[in-house]
Amino acid sequence: MIGNLIIISSPSGGGKGTLIKEVLKIVPHIGYSVSFTTREMRAGEANGRDYFFVSRDEFETLIEESALLEFAEVHGNFYGTSLKQIKAEIEAGHDIILEIDVQGAAHVREKIHEAVSIFILPPSFAVLAARLTARATENAADLDLRLKNSFGEVSRFSEFEFVVVNDDVARATGDLQTIILADRLRRVRQSKVIKGILNSFETSKNQVTGE
Ligand code: 5GP
Repeated sequence: MIGNLIIISSPSGGGKGTLIKEVLKIVPHIGYSVSFTTREMRAGEANGRDYFFVSRDEFETLIEESALLEFAEVHGNFYGTSLKQIKAEIEAGHDIILEIDVQGAAHVREKIHEAVSIFILPPSFAVLAARLTARATENAADLDLRLKNSFGEVSRFSEFEFVVVNDDVARATGDLQTIILADRLRRVRQSKVIKGILNSFETSKNQVTGE
């Protein structure tokens, strides 16, 4: 199988992290793109697992060396997707999930037309605000900024091919799984297998039809 990019965006607190963890458990042959960021590491995060935490200077070097598929400034920090990791996963025939913001999603879609894009919507603003407050990973100013930015982010939902409403983790996980598996059935993604099957028809044609 040829791998594909699965872009997943949502406002902060939309619950995409939880859904992605669930999807990675149940869908085979799929990787997760570990981004570079200049944001501070949160308690419970690990370097190389959640992000590669780098300084501004290191991030600029990555840009200069064309090591990033895309990058954007989000909530006052820089985030970027590793081109090397994407290439390795696709070449191994795996899909790869890019958990990136709406600006990054637009950049990737411009470069890679076949990428699948999914927007995760929380069931309401109140639920989003409650989730962000409850997880308590941001200070008051950062939380406020993320809530303010959510208005602009949700307004860009129509740029995405698919929308999943995250009102129930099990159902929303199932929705994501369905989208990822359905994309694998696209004709272009099965071209190798189809070619083999059609060759078997071609070689048997003379015998059967006498042509
Ligand atoms: P957080 O700080 O909550 O981990 O992430 C903040 C925002 O940055 C989220 O919307 C997340 O999807 C986005 N983000 C994470 N990695 C990347 C990346 O590599 N590129 C872009 N454009 N956005 C990213």
